[in-house]
Amino acid sequence: MERTNAWKHYREEQLRELTEIGERYKAYISTCKTERECTAEAISMAKANGYRDLAEIIANQEQILPGDKVYAQNMGKAILLLQIGTAPMEQGMNIVGAHIDSPRLDIKPNPLYEEAGMAYLDTHYYGGIKKYQWTCRPLALHGTVAKKDGTKIEIAIGEDEHDPVFGVTELLVHLSGEMMKKQAAVVIEGENLDILVGSRPVEGDGKDLVRQGILNILHDTYGMEEEDFLSAELEMVPAGKARDFGFDRSMIMGYAQDDRVCAYTALEAMMRLPAGSRTAACLLVDKEEIGSVGATGMQSAFFEDMVAEVLERMGCYSELALRRTLRFSRVLSADVSVAFDPLYASAMDAKNSAYFGKGPSFNKYVGSRGKGGSNDANAEYIALLRGMLDRHQVAYQFSEIGKVDQGGGGTIAYILAKYGMQVIDCGVPVLNMHAPWEITSKADVYEAVKAFHVFLAEG
Ligand code: MN
Ligand code: MN
Repeated sequence: MERTNAWKHYREEQLRELTEIGERYKAYISTCKTERECTAEAISMAKANGYRDLAEIIANQEQILPGDKVYAQNMGKAILLLQIGTAPMEQGMNIVGAHIDSPRLDIKPNPLYEEAGMAYLDTHYYGGIKKYQWTCRPLALHGTVAKKDGTKIEIAIGEDEHDPVFGVTELLVHLSGEMMKKQAAVVIEGENLDILVGSRPVEGDGKDLVRQGILNILHDTYGMEEEDFLSAELEMVPAGKARDFGFDRSMIMGYAQDDRVCAYTALEAMMRLPAGSRTAACLLVDKEEIGSVGATGMQSAFFEDMVAEVLERMGCYSELALRRTLRFSRVLSADVSVAFDPLYASAMDAKNSAYFGKGPSFNKYVGSRGKGGSNDANAEYIALLRGMLDRHQVAYQFSEIGKVDQGGGGTIAYILAKYGMQVIDCGVPVLNMHAPWEITSKADVYEAVKAFHVFLAEG
């Protein structure tokens, strides 16, 4: 089934709106490169748009009323935003859920060493990566160091043009005869993704004087001792801003568009939402790339607990009311889809692929080996969504992740589906997914904002 390319129908005003959203989105992914930075930005957007902190509402025993906007953050790495509707919560919510963690190189707890007069930080990669893609490129260091005295140091080095950058070195081609015979999966080993961070020894006769120089800089700049690496979350990410891509500027290249393109478009939609009857929710979670585990991942009780707290503050909490609120909810599990790449057509089924310019793509199911591990959305729910999007002339498409038995992937969909909600995966198609620089279409980003807006307002 051929779907039309959205670019063909845009009028001047829509092109202007598309460009403005693209600019705001590029700014967001250029500065928000960790789950903590994404959460902090979501909080500041929420506050600017009249959202109140649920923790304060609980502490002050305030009421929550229809029309109120509240947010709850989880350990600074996940956030739930709610716009309370006029209908009883028990009738369910319209939820757009995305993840804000992305593949990267995490700094190990004991990272710093010196070898051959050079200082390195040892890493352990996070999420699924082709390791060879992470060498020979400028990396920036983002993260948080928690000190024993309870204070925290926020770090972001490598984004300003005057900042230094870091990186993983690789053997010159001239000496790579043996290396080039290796399989791509092992040509760069995970243990070798160590970051070069210095080469200048401090004065003295001791050992490891380059390493000592790095420790001095960390101490003088951040008040950080070597032991503080033990209680730090430091991430090496591609350095630099998101850019327009292509002569026609129709695309965006940037780091971590999986899944911040869905997180951002969901936030855009949420912030402009008119008052509605069903409660609208935007849920941004951590740890999806490593199985949604942990206290800040979708499998934690955070989401359910916060809904219970809101019901309590509305004076209508009961175990049954909570179960009903969850069960009658509808979800767009907003996670990116694979964009068809003609250079790798053999991995995909062309007629069940997502294409640039045709809007966000729905995946009825994902999974692997016969849909294994997948939520499989109900036909009736899909019909409801089709009607809604068609009424509002939103471009959308349906696809699968690659050919049958070619591989697969997972999202947060199956976790929310456990409550008995209607859930389907729906997200912006991406080229180069999980590579340091991923590509999306501006038209798809624009259509995703429209789709999430219609769904949150009417779903
Ligand atoms: Mn994803
Ligand atoms: Mn992913």
